[in-house]
This record gives sequence, structure tokens and C-alpha cells, in this order.
Amino acid sequence: MQDDPMSRLEDHHVPDHEGGVNPAISDSSTFAFSRPDLLRAAFHDEAPGCYLYSRAGNATLRTLADAMAALEGSEAAHVTASGMSAIAITLMQLAASGSRIVASHTVYGGTWALLGNLLPRFGVETRFADTNDLEEVREAVNGDTAAIYCETLSNPMLRMPAIGALAQIARESDAALVVDNTFAPLLVSPIALGADVVVHSLTKFINGASDCIAGAVCASDEFIATLGDVNAGTAMLIGPVLDSLRAQSIYKNLATLDVRMQRHGENAAFLAERLEEAGLETVYPGLASHPEHDLFDSQANPGYGYGGMLGLDLGTVEAAEDLAMRLQDAGVGLLAVSLGHARTLFSPSGSSTSSEIPPEMQNQIGLSPGLLRFSIGLDADIEATWERFSDCLADANLV
Ligand code: PLP
Repeated sequence: MQDDPMSRLEDHHVPDHEGGVNPAISDSSTFAFSRPDLLRAAFHDEAPGCYLYSRAGNATLRTLADAMAALEGSEAAHVTASGMSAIAITLMQLAASGSRIVASHTVYGGTWALLGNLLPRFGVETRFADTNDLEEVREAVNGDTAAIYCETLSNPMLRMPAIGALAQIARESDAALVVDNTFAPLLVSPIALGADVVVHSLTKFINGASDCIAGAVCASDEFIATLGDVNAGTAMLIGPVLDSLRAQSIYKNLATLDVRMQRHGENAAFLAERLEEAGLETVYPGLASHPEHDLFDSQANPGYGYGGMLGLDLGTVEAAEDLAMRLQDAGVGLLAVSLGHARTLFSPSGSSTSSEIPPEMQNQIGLSPGLLRFSIGLDADIEATWERFSDCLADANLV
């Protein structure tokens, strides 16, 4: 089943250095050469099979990167020390002073700040647009556009763009379509839908343990080689290198990604249905009321569900914070940013992970201050979780 991302991941070759079931960890920053001509050649990427220095790569980073490429169906991948660095090196490689980036107006707050505050200091202009409105995207794109940027499921509003249609607009203007697939690994394969580059925060569902920060860029052989170029590659010259020990632990966690995504999705769907039935404003792609429910079905890989992210709009930040504290006290989950942990995590997005987006802009894009964003956990007994949850809703006079 070549088209199934988990099958591709399982089939991808794991080097068997020492007969262990897991590959050995490459634990060196630098590598010795048997001959000076090989050392010289390595600087020009002309010494196949030789590692030179771990900022450029090593066998463990290669193993995780190859697994990410298999997962996303890209020719190659590069792993980084954070999701933010994966996004930053990608956009800085694609753009130059005078370029424009057309970005979805609902993206993770850190990405919003990178695009809206930091990159303009280097002469890169960002136009934020509603990527669900293709006309608006077309109007924002001009001849200087280097990239169109969006998230598969936007953080925190869980809107989904039509990736194929955005890819078409990007192609027509010689721009790259970059998609952040952090919320939907396995669920959606943006490259198969036409994206040029997929970026990830591995910190989230991919690793699934909330014990480290990491990222990945998945793209063509050519683009990944450009990132590593010794003279002008952003990965090489900025150097956001993931440590090998962490790369190894993330690699091992990838093996259970399908089981975890399915359970996150089943639990989130169960809670979303009950929350909506209880009359609460619930945002979940698996609900028929979600504006892109049908689009999700048409873009998703079968068998992995609708993901673990869920939004509940409680109107005001006070109501969101009050419910969050009740849920934490009742053991439903933890008041924490981030996602993909075994336990349910929740935070009011407008005042936390999207706080970089100015309030008037939040208002304009429809991001309610009362939106409580949930990453639903792997709870074994989700019905028992719902009982606690519904008690909290009653205590907070929300039902
Ligand atoms: N992309 C999305 C959608 C995110 O939610 C985040 C972090 O919350 C990032 C990127 C940044 O990733 P990291 O925290 O690993 O740098």
C-alpha cells in the first residue's frame, strides 16, 4: 500500500548497525577521515556515505529525516531543533529581500510573529489572507511572491484550506506552497495534494511525549540540498541542529504514530459530539457542522480519523479560564500549551499561543477570546472522562 503514509514509514529501511532492533546512535559532532582528499571532497558534498560534521548531518539525524520523508511522501527531509526553526529556514531559503510571502491569516502565533514582525526586518513582506478564500489569495499573490504558506488544520481555529487549489495558484506564479502539517500528521499528506514543502513541529503529535522540541522540513532532494549548502544554505549557516539522542527517541516514537493518532481522534470525536449535543459551540473537523468537514474527507488519508485537536468557544476569556481550572482540578487534563501529549492539554488560545496576533486582528479573523483549544489525550476510558467533563460544565453553569 504505497499510498498509505504509515505503510511507507514501516517499509523504509532502518540501518542495522549492530544487530539491534533500533539503529545505533551516532554520538559525534565530528568525523575522522582516512584520507585528506575525502575530507576535501566532503566540503563539496562529493564524498557519498561520509559524514563530516553534525551541523551538516549524521547517521541518526539522517534516519529520522528519512523516516519523515517516508511519512510525508517527499523525496527528502531535514530535521531541526524546533518547529519554528524548520519554518524559519524554509521561508528564509525561499525568500529574499523584496520577496512577498502570502500567508494564511490564521497560523500559530509564533509563525504569525515570524511572518509579520521578524521577516519584514529583512525586507520580506508578508500579506496575510484568508486561505479559504481563493480569490483573496489570488489577489494577494504578485510577481515577487516566493511562497504561499498555510497550515493543514489552522492553529487554533482548525480551518482547512483546499491544498490542491492553493498549489495551483502557487504554480501559476512560480511560488512554493509551504504547508505546516503539525496538527495532521498521517491524516493528510500535503505533498500528494500538490504542496512543495511540508514543515512540522515534531514537538507535538509526531513525538507524542512532550519531552523535547524538534522540527522537520520535507521537500524535494534539490530543496533539502539547498538548505544544507555550505555557502548559502539556511540550515547550514543558521544551524538549528537537533541532538542525536533526541532524534533517536523521536524516531522510536514514530513507530506508534498511527495507533496514537487513531486514539486521539476517536477520543476527540467522542467528546466533540457530546459537547455539541450539550449545546456548546464546538469546533472539530469530524463534526458535520465544521465548515470544511467534506473538504477534510476529500483530502484525508483513510483510517486515521479527524485528529486530536478540538476547540470550544466559551465566549469570554474568563469563562475559558474558569472551565480550564475546573477541568484541571477534576483530572480531565492539564492547563498547558502544546499538543500531542498522552494527557489532554488545554489553553485559551487568544491569550496564549495566539497572543502574538494583535487583538484587533484576532477579532477580524474570528478568533474568539473565549476559545479554549484542546489537544485530546489517549484516555483509556473516554466515557469516564466525559462524566468528569460534563460535571465541570454543569458546575460552571455552561449547560
Ligand atoms: N507550527 C504549529 C502549528 C505549532 O502549533 C507550533 C508550536 O506550537 C509550531 C509550529 C512551532 O513549533 P516548535 O514549538 O516545535 O518550535
